[in-house]
Amino acid sequence: MVLRLAVKWAMALAWVLAVAAVGAFAQQGVVKVGTAAAGVGQKASGVIEVAAGVDAGTSIPVVVVHGAKPGPTLALVTGAHGTEYVSIIAVEKLIGVLDPAEISGTVILVPLVNVVSFEQKVPHVNPVDNKSMNRFYPGKADGTQTDRALYAITKEVVDRCDYLIDYHGGDLDESLRPYAYWGPTGKAEQDRISKDMVLAFGLDHIIIWKERPTDPAATRYLDNTASVRGKASIVVEAGHAGTVETDDVALLVNGTLSTMRALKMLPGEAHRVENPVWIVKLDDILAEQAGIFYPLVRRGTYVSAGMKVGYATDYVGKVIQEFRAPEAGVVLHINAVPSMKKGDNLLDLGVVGSAP
Ligand SMILES: [Zn+2]
Repeated sequence: MVLRLAVKWAMALAWVLAVAAVGAFAQQGVVKVGTAAAGVGQKASGVIEVAAGVDAGTSIPVVVVHGAKPGPTLALVTGAHGTEYVSIIAVEKLIGVLDPAEISGTVILVPLVNVVSFEQKVPHVNPVDNKSMNRFYPGKADGTQTDRALYAITKEVVDRCDYLIDYHGGDLDESLRPYAYWGPTGKAEQDRISKDMVLAFGLDHIIIWKERPTDPAATRYLDNTASVRGKASIVVEAGHAGTVETDDVALLVNGTLSTMRALKMLPGEAHRVENPVWIVKLDDILAEQAGIFYPLVRRGTYVSAGMKVGYATDYVGKVIQEFRAPEAGVVLHINAVPSMKKGDNLLDLGVVGSAP
């Protein structure tokens, strides 16, 4: 009797364990980010909900493309600056282009982090709390909307991925030539992968971004948040002054597909840029006071040390400031509009160095 009872218990336990195992297996088959849940071979969309707190809540759109074959997880995030349109439209295009049947692994796409900036056409910041949505990572559960949104992205996207690409581009007031950032961490294997990602992406000017925060609780930037957590990541930028030009969008779409080939998430060969221009230093040229800005060079222009690159007048035509290149370099971005207030970064000059 005792023995029969023991056998019954053992059978019951085996049944419970079997059900639990099937449950775990089914769980493994679905990737869920926010409300987007995709089984193997599926594409699903949803939102990352950010609840109201000290200010309004927000819903950040998200798409999960769960490949038919196993592999790593790649996160594609854009729209922290909601009027950098080329980067947003490129990720929108990728939502349509990526076919789960061809993919090994999973792609998490976040096409528009800063929804209110996009809707209200406000550059640089989230109008809800006036914060840049790429300066407050890893975010806070109890801060203003930007803090809470970035906290959710860190938890839902960064912590879940193996690799990350952060997309930006010239904002409404920025005339920008395309370029990428590569931020070496000193961890050899991670840096090898991120360097291969940036070469495979194919943008021909690459900024080497060193001396970045290393404290996981104060990483500031999205790509740095991923890098500090051991995930190879890069930043790519294309687009200028509110335009959505086909060539700029194609740079970001094709660059992403090539990077996925390098990561073995798509079949085929990556097209790596062979001789990129490596930028080893950035010089910011700032406005000393408010006025009207007149550029004398274009995005992408190479300038010599001391060359006049622009000037500013007051509102009655008197020249109040001249802007000169502090050293030789390439104009990565220049102010695209006459508006100029004190402290504005009017021009980013990239100083060219040797390959790392
Ligand atoms: Zn940006």
